[in-house]
Amino acid sequence: MPQMPALPHTAYIGLGANLGDAQATVRAALSALALLPQTRLQAQSSLYRSAPQDADGDDYVNAVAELQTALTPHELLARLQAIEAANGRERPYYHAPRTLDLDLLLYDDAALADATLTLPHPRLHLRAFALLPLLEIAADIAIPGIGPARPLLPTLAGQAIARL
Ligand code: ADP
Ligand code: MG
Repeated sequence: MPQMPALPHTAYIGLGANLGDAQATVRAALSALALLPQTRLQAQSSLYRSAPQDADGDDYVNAVAELQTALTPHELLARLQAIEAANGRERPYYHAPRTLDLDLLLYDDAALADATLTLPHPRLHLRAFALLPLLEIAADIAIPGIGPARPLLPTLAGQAIARL
C-alpha cells in the first residue's frame, strides 16, 4: 500500500535580521529551523544584505530556507515565533528594527488568510530581499494567486540587495 511521505509539506521561510550581529543571528536561526520537530531543513540560500524597506535602522541580513515538514502552517508559524522570541525579538512598534524576523513565505500551494496567518506571505512578491534568495533555491517557484516568481524580479530592480 502506498504510504504518505513522512514530511509531506514544503514550506519556505524568509529570515531577516538587522540588529547586533545580524549574520550570526541568521545562521543561528537556520540551525534552529534544522532542529524543528517533524521537519527537515532541505535547502538554504546564501546570505544577502539589503537596505531596509518600510523599516528603520541598519541594513538587513536576509536568507530563505526550504523546509520539508509534517507541521501544519499554524504550528510552523508558532515555532517561527518561538525562535524569534528565543533570539530576543522585541516589538516596540510596527516595523521596528528587529533582531530576527521569520516569515512563512509559502506552504505548498496554500492560499489562506485568518487572524494570525496569511499565505502566501502578502508582501513576498514585493520584496527583492525575499524573492532573490527564494529563487536561488527554488528557481521555478510560483506564488499562488500571482504566478511564476522569477518574472517579478525586474519589477523590484530598484531595491538594493547584494549577496554576501
Ligand atoms: P513583518 O514580518 O511583516 O515585518 P511581523 O513579523 O511583525 O511583520 O508580523 C506581524 C504578524 O504577522 C505576526 O504576528 C503574524 O501573526 C502575522 N503573519 C501573518 N501572516 C504571516 C506569515 N505568512 N508569516 C509570518 N507572520 C505572519
Ligand atoms: Mg514577520
